[in-house]
Amino acid sequence: MWHLNNTIGNSMKLIFISLFLSLFTNKPNIIFIMSDDHTSQAIGAYNSRLAPLNLTPNIDKIAKEGIIFRNAFCSNSICTPSRASIITGQYAHTNGVLDLTGELGSEQQYLAHEMKKAGYETAMIGKWHLKKRPAAFDYYKVLPGQGKYYDPNFFEGSYGDEKGKPVVMKGHSSDCLTDIAINWLNNKRNKNKPFFLKFHFKAPHDFFHYAPRYEDYLKDVKVPEPKSMWDNENNGSLATKGSDNELIHHIGTSIGLRNYRRNYANTWAKGIKDEKQAKTQAYQSYLKKYLRCVKGIDDNIARLVESLKSQNLYDNTIIIYTGDQGFMLGEHDYQDKRWAYEESMRMPFIVRYPKVIKPGSESDAIIENIDYPATMLDFAGVPTPGYMQGKSFRSILETGKEPKGWKKEAYYQYWMHMAHHDVPGHIALRTKKYKLILYYGARVNELKPETPPAWELYDLEKDPYELDNIYDNPKNAKLVMQLKAQFFKMRSENGAADEKFPVNKVINEYWEYDKEAKNKAIVISKNYAEERNKKQGIK
Ligand code: CA
Repeated sequence: MWHLNNTIGNSMKLIFISLFLSLFTNKPNIIFIMSDDHTSQAIGAYNSRLAPLNLTPNIDKIAKEGIIFRNAFCSNSICTPSRASIITGQYAHTNGVLDLTGELGSEQQYLAHEMKKAGYETAMIGKWHLKKRPAAFDYYKVLPGQGKYYDPNFFEGSYGDEKGKPVVMKGHSSDCLTDIAINWLNNKRNKNKPFFLKFHFKAPHDFFHYAPRYEDYLKDVKVPEPKSMWDNENNGSLATKGSDNELIHHIGTSIGLRNYRRNYANTWAKGIKDEKQAKTQAYQSYLKKYLRCVKGIDDNIARLVESLKSQNLYDNTIIIYTGDQGFMLGEHDYQDKRWAYEESMRMPFIVRYPKVIKPGSESDAIIENIDYPATMLDFAGVPTPGYMQGKSFRSILETGKEPKGWKKEAYYQYWMHMAHHDVPGHIALRTKKYKLILYYGARVNELKPETPPAWELYDLEKDPYELDNIYDNPKNAKLVMQLKAQFFKMRSENGAADEKFPVNKVINEYWEYDKEAKNKAIVISKNYAEERNKKQGIK
C-alpha cells in the first residue's frame, strides 16, 4: 500500500512538474527594444519624406513580418517619464515621474516584478535613465544617466543589488550594448525559463556621436527637408508665436537662427549670417549625424536577429521595437522632443511574433505607452494589475481589430515648462481625427502663467502635418466644446486634474478662454518677450 501510494505520489509530482514546465515553455519570450529619441519619421516603414533614403532595412523587415502601429503615443514626450510609464503602466501624474529629475526605485519597477512572478528570467540592458538601479530585474547592465557614446561605462548587477559593479567597455555604445544583449541571450540567462529582455540603445540621442564607420554614410545625399521648416503656415498660436510674432525668437529650439538663444545654426553653421543658408546647412548636418546613429542601431538589430535565429529563438520570441518618444526633425523649424505635435508625441511601435501576428499587419488604433506593460504581461499570462492605468491591446496584435470599447483618445502632458528647449508647459487630447492642445505656460507649483496660455486645434485627417490651427474659427465652436468636454472628463478620470498639482488652477482659469482671458494672455506675451529681449540685449 505504502509502495503504491508512493508511486502515485511520485507520478502526480511528475505530472505537476511537466504541467508546470509546459505552462512556462508555452509562454513566449519577449524582447522590448527601445532606442532613445528614434522617431517614426526616421524609420522606413513609416513612409515619411525620409523613407526613400532606405534608412532602416532591418527594422523595416521586422515591421513587414509583423504589425506596425501608426497611432502609438507617449503621454509625456521626454526620456525619463516615458520610461517610467512603460515600467509602471501609469501616467506621469500617477507614478510621480513628471520630468527628468524623476526616479524609479526597485519597488516601483512593477513590470519586472510581475514578469518575475510569472516565471520569467528578466534582464535590463542599456540606457535606463531612472536614477536608481533596475534592481527588480534578475540581471542588469545599464549606462549611468545619459551614458557615453564611446567606451561606455556600466553598472552591472543582479536582482536586489541596488548598487551594481562598475564596468567599462571599449567601442561605440550601440555595438557594446548589442554585444551585451547577445551574450546574455546566449550564455548568461537561465535557459529553463522564458525570458523578458528590456534592451535600450542610447542612440540616436543628442549629441549624435555615430561610430566612425558611418562617416561617409549619406555624405553626398541631400536629406529631404520638411516644408514646414520654411513655411510654418498657421501652425501654433499666441502661446508659441505671441500676438504679434513677438515670441518666435524665444519659443522652441530652432534649426535656423529664429530662436536667438537655442538653435542648431549656431552650432553647425557657425558664422553664416544668411538665414536661409544657415538653416539649410544646420539641417543637413543635424540630420546626417542623427541618421548615422540610426544606421548604427539598424545594423545592430540585424546582428541581434542573426543571433536569435542561431539560437532558434526568432519565431518564439515577441520582438518589439520602439523609441522612448518621437523627435522633431526640423518640422515647424523645431528640434528635440517635448511637443505634443505629431512628430514628437508619436512613438514608433512595431511588433513581430509570427505565432499570432499576421505578417504585414497595420493598425491605426490609439495606443499609449502606459498600455505596453499590460500588453506584454497579457502574453506572459498575467492579468493587468489593478494599479496600472494602461490596458492590454493583445487582441489588436492577434486580430488587427480594436476590441469593443477600446480607447478613443490619448492623453498628453509636458510638465517641464521652458526647461532646456524653450517649450511651454502644455496638455493635449489626441483622438484619431483631432488634436486639442492647451499651452498653460507654467511650472507644476506655479499659480500664474509665465508664458501666454492659448489653445490649438488640428484636424489631422485634413491636416496631418498640423499646419492650420482651427481653434479660433467660429465654425468650430461646437466641436471645440465637445472636445473640451471629452478632455475634461479624461483628465478628471485619469487623475491629471487633481488639485494636488497647483498648476491646475492655471489650467482651470484658461479653460473657457473668453475674450478677457485672451487679453490677459496677450499682456503676458508682451511682457515675457520684453523681459527676454532685455535679458539677451535685443532691441
Ligand atoms: Ca528620449
